[in-house]
Amino acid sequence: MSDVPPSGPLYVTRPDLPSLDEFIPYLREIWRSKILTNGGPFHQKFEEELSKYLGVRYIALFTNATIGLVTALQALRITGEVITTPYSFVATAHSLIWNGIKPVFVDVDPVTFNLDPAKIEAAITPQTTAIMPVHCYGHPCDVDRIQAIADTYGLKVIYDAAHAFGVKCHCGSVLTHGDLSVLSFHATKVFTTFEGGAIICGNDKIRQRINYLKNFGFADEVTVVAPGINGKMSEFNAALGLLQLKGVDRALARRQAIDARYRTLLAQVRGLRCLLPTGETVSNHAYFPILVQPDYPLSRDDLYDKFRGRNVLVRRYFYPLISEFPMYRGLPSAASSNLPNASRLSRQVLCLPIYPALTDDEVDRVVDILLTE
Ligand SMILES: *Cc1c(COP(=O)(O)O)cnc(C)c1O
Repeated sequence: MSDVPPSGPLYVTRPDLPSLDEFIPYLREIWRSKILTNGGPFHQKFEEELSKYLGVRYIALFTNATIGLVTALQALRITGEVITTPYSFVATAHSLIWNGIKPVFVDVDPVTFNLDPAKIEAAITPQTTAIMPVHCYGHPCDVDRIQAIADTYGLKVIYDAAHAFGVKCHCGSVLTHGDLSVLSFHATKVFTTFEGGAIICGNDKIRQRINYLKNFGFADEVTVVAPGINGKMSEFNAALGLLQLKGVDRALARRQAIDARYRTLLAQVRGLRCLLPTGETVSNHAYFPILVQPDYPLSRDDLYDKFRGRNVLVRRYFYPLISEFPMYRGLPSAASSNLPNASRLSRQVLCLPIYPALTDDEVDRVVDILLTE
């Protein structure tokens, strides 16, 4: 089980690193070829294998998801206002601010934790150009209803799919919906290259523009076609990704077993509610959120402290809401009266440890902490 990190920097530790012995040959290959970055052989191979694995048309690898989101907005020339969710990691809204776009927060559905499609239309103004939903915890958004609204109003849809690696909904990979989807391979995610991310794209022209934008706008050695950024993934990270892909199905299967064990053990506990699977045909069990309700003997924060006191790393994802941070709370859409579901979920949620190396005994220990005074 994860230890509480030392005070000071917020380190991210990872109990299920790929084996170093297996990674050495990849490193040797990098040292042999001396190709370190800028779309080298590991980068090319990882893009190919990843698109096959995920069942998507095009992938552009990135240095991280945040630069991926910033670039996705640039690629589609999004301006003005974008409708998004307050119940996410801050990078979702930050990517809008970095493009000079005004985020407009819309409340989430209390069952799926995702942007509530029924509330989107009321937030559309003449300045609205796009919707940026999040597949929260890897549960698919209502992609059909969101697309119908986007089509009616001529809006683009960019999914923050940071949680949605490998998730499938009724019509295949959830990543094929909307105009673009952005994955994260950060160390805390289901699939990791330490730092990394990718934009998923179905359109060859947009893919070309994304590839220019992530490399300063260079089309060739002397031609710069756009004010690009440096979003490239290095050979080191791409090699790590290729190695991770080999074990990903085993890792996902173990996550599923842990999820099932938690559900069985927690089914009868008064005051705790597990999220129901919502709409995915294949889920990735990226998180195991529970809601601590008023009839549970402890408040959510007391329960959080109790876990921390026993060296169990539980997380309050997502608390505070994005709309509560100082750079957002002045927006009219950030008022908690506009976001009642997100506000309540954010005060009740606790994400329990879930990762492939977690043993059944450790799951039982987590559950014991929930059951005992
Ligand atoms: C992790 C995360 C990001 C940021 O990803 P990075 O790869 O760390 O930049 C963005 N959005 C959501 C919802 C995330 O969970």
